[in-house]
Amino acid sequence: MVSLLNAARPPVFCPGCSHERITQTLDKTFHAMNLDGNRIVMVSDIGCSGLFDTFFNTHALHGLHGRALTYAAGLKLARPELTVVVTMGDGGQGIGGAHLLAACRRNLDMTLLVLNNFNFGMTGGQYSATTPPDAEVGSGFLNRLERPLDVCSVARAAGAAYVVRCSTYRSDIADVIRKAVEFKGFSVVDIWGICPGRFSKRNRLTTKGIEEMLSRLTPFEGEVAENQRREFGTHYRELAAAQKPVPPPPAVIAQFDPVSAERQEVILLGSAGQRIITAGEMLCLAGLHAGLNATQKNDYDITVLRGPSISEMILSPQAIDYTGISQPSVVIALGPEGVARRKKMFAGLDETCTVIQAVGVDIPACRARIHRVDLKGQGFKGTDWALASLGVLAQLGLVMRPQMLEAAIAARLKGDSQAGALEVVRKVKPGESI
Ligand code: SF4
Repeated sequence: MVSLLNAARPPVFCPGCSHERITQTLDKTFHAMNLDGNRIVMVSDIGCSGLFDTFFNTHALHGLHGRALTYAAGLKLARPELTVVVTMGDGGQGIGGAHLLAACRRNLDMTLLVLNNFNFGMTGGQYSATTPPDAEVGSGFLNRLERPLDVCSVARAAGAAYVVRCSTYRSDIADVIRKAVEFKGFSVVDIWGICPGRFSKRNRLTTKGIEEMLSRLTPFEGEVAENQRREFGTHYRELAAAQKPVPPPPAVIAQFDPVSAERQEVILLGSAGQRIITAGEMLCLAGLHAGLNATQKNDYDITVLRGPSISEMILSPQAIDYTGISQPSVVIALGPEGVARRKKMFAGLDETCTVIQAVGVDIPACRARIHRVDLKGQGFKGTDWALASLGVLAQLGLVMRPQMLEAAIAARLKGDSQAGALEVVRKVKPGESI
């Protein structure tokens, strides 16, 4: 095999940069593993380590700062047969640290090379997540206040199955990288090096100095016994294959003529717990049974059983490009919270709009036609008001007919729920226009 280094783009690091040695070493590793460039993806981060993907005749992906592991994970899941090697600096580790934790927990078969030179070299030598507190950097004194990140201890704590901390200048560095790439799981290699362009201009750092620093820390040299487990991708595919296939959505067959050839817009204004959203879904299903296009847009707070619940539906013979409603054909007011949330809307309603108002729910003054219905007086529970109001709508021949609504209920509900819903929409009395 020949070198995978890109002759048209030789490495462009400052003289003496440790990245140069890793570039050459990685090429030797690929060579020793007899890997074809077409079977490798170099995923790089931002910074000087982000140049790596351009130096090799392999597949490449260069993305946002700190996020390289996210793309790499997607790539490896989609193309498990490829060898994925990620290069990030210590800067990227600080920026996207949560992605390192996720990758360690997940254990996908890929390798992260952290090219750790204790500063943001490319942008001028600012302090990074691994800068020692006693270092001089180009960004003031903040590194004196923060504890440097121990990449390997964090990786082990997060579940990394293979972790190495080493110097760029180790004589067996090619072997170290090869073993990490060959490991069947997520491997992290924290490779300490020298950035002569920035860091060692302000700080005395030699290869011997790196060895001394490393000797004062917990050594990491490969497989982490307590984190050994199955590789994520293989396990994922196995479990996914055992899942029951998701059935296709039921087809809705148009059986009825629509009430109108015009687009109809309906807004349900209620309170949480009134099953407003379910009723909106029924209305859409009713429209589908008349061959109409339908959209539903919901608005509710994060709380349950408290606050407004609003559903906006459009039924139209034409395609619906935008789901917003500006001139509703029907507004159904069932709860004070929903009405309060849209109170400004009422001033813009005109005679073309019908407001179905549940007795006991106040609405702001407006020019719309008002149709009042006493749902409480008819004995309906609050949870049935939204469905009952659809029964009123259907009986009035507004937006849908009773057959359309009953077909929607039959499509959406089964058994006792279906029988109960049909009883509600058949029993409700339509109220009166005022
Ligand atoms: S700035 Fe530092 S890391 Fe970047 S190329 Fe120069 S020596 Fe290497």
